[in-house]
Amino acid sequence: MIKYDHLMIRFGELSTKGKNKSSFVHLLFSNVKHALKDFENLTFIEKYDHIYVGLNGEEYQKIVERLQDVSGIQGISLVFKCENDIEVIKSSSLELIKQEEGKTFKVKCKRGNKKFPIISDDVIRQVAPVILKNTDLKVDVHNPNILLNIDIREEATYIFCKTFDGAGGYPLGIAGKSMHMLSGGIDSPVAAYLLMKRGVKIECIHFASPPYTQEGVIFKLEDLLIKLNRYQPTIRLNIVPFTKIQEAIYDHVPESYCITMMRRMMFRLASKLSLRRNCPVISSGESVGQVASQTLDSMHVINEVTNIPVIRPCAALDKLEIISIAKKIDTFDISIRPYEDCCTIFTPKAPKTSPKLDEVRKFEQEFDYEPLLNEAIKNIEVRQIGENKK
Ligand code: ATP
Ligand code: MG
Repeated sequence: MIKYDHLMIRFGELSTKGKNKSSFVHLLFSNVKHALKDFENLTFIEKYDHIYVGLNGEEYQKIVERLQDVSGIQGISLVFKCENDIEVIKSSSLELIKQEEGKTFKVKCKRGNKKFPIISDDVIRQVAPVILKNTDLKVDVHNPNILLNIDIREEATYIFCKTFDGAGGYPLGIAGKSMHMLSGGIDSPVAAYLLMKRGVKIECIHFASPPYTQEGVIFKLEDLLIKLNRYQPTIRLNIVPFTKIQEAIYDHVPESYCITMMRRMMFRLASKLSLRRNCPVISSGESVGQVASQTLDSMHVINEVTNIPVIRPCAALDKLEIISIAKKIDTFDISIRPYEDCCTIFTPKAPKTSPKLDEVRKFEQEFDYEPLLNEAIKNIEVRQIGENKK
């Protein structure tokens, strides 16, 4: 019995990328090889339109699952590779379709290789009768149980019935890197995932306020990032000591403005670090209207401290949508572990939902925060989560 022997990986959005395409494909190729490095027997072929993974006896299910986490892949087909010979195509098609479940079928053919002497319609006319004659299957051109694809290319013909969806987006790394603000909550890991799915690498910044926040928060962040390592093999986590800044805020600013001020300081720090680490953008898990600091007015006043673009992938999602993504990427259970966040500790009873910029500026003139920010940046603790863990 012949067996499917390759996976054929399709790129989707990449196809539209013109002359950058080959660098996109190279990057995706190395991301794919990296994602599958635990499967020892696989072989890899990079072509202009597809990447082929030779199974060499490995079961395909786990490999497909792994590939479904690699951004930049549109679809993955389980294929049988054979020579460009109509007799071989006929007999292989028959053997393969016998292994599929269903009562109806349709044959589709694509002849990319124009040197192949039989046009695609005629290939279908030759293959379909062989199947009709040798099986109980019936033809259904509109809604077949089994769609048998015959893809005739330069180097070989690929026959397949099963195609799995990929994650879509762009290959990780192609879009550069974002300085991602990671709290221990539900939203920020989801935002990180949504960015990575678009091909954006992340580096994380976290503001810790010991002794008000505990070491447990950092373990929690590490656990969250281990889940995200599935999409990005190594993630750098920058832990910024935030206690002194936070205490200074509470000494100098009225309670109702503390959160606004704290977040302005967070964005100032994120901006400073993003410049040093070559991140052209900052990202966060903010979602419009979720809490006082996330009203549009608050965002305006907070964002005013930086001219670096801030991407908020969760901005327009509601909490239930965010939770369902968190469950899908397996971060939800970690995120709901109880912990003290620097925001929750000092939460005022009545935070401002529409803070005024001139007010904020007035308060800020009253204390010399710049040295505190520089000191915090100087004392950042860096951890690498993932493969190249130090
Ligand atoms: P999350 O679930 O991500 O914690 P949230 O709904 O609790 O979000 P906030 O606590 O207001 O909302 O935080 C909004 C965003 O600000 C977070 O998603 C995160 O990107 C950033 N943020 C908040 N606290 C911290 C922190 N201690 N360190 C780094 N980033 C933070
Ligand atoms: Mg939070």
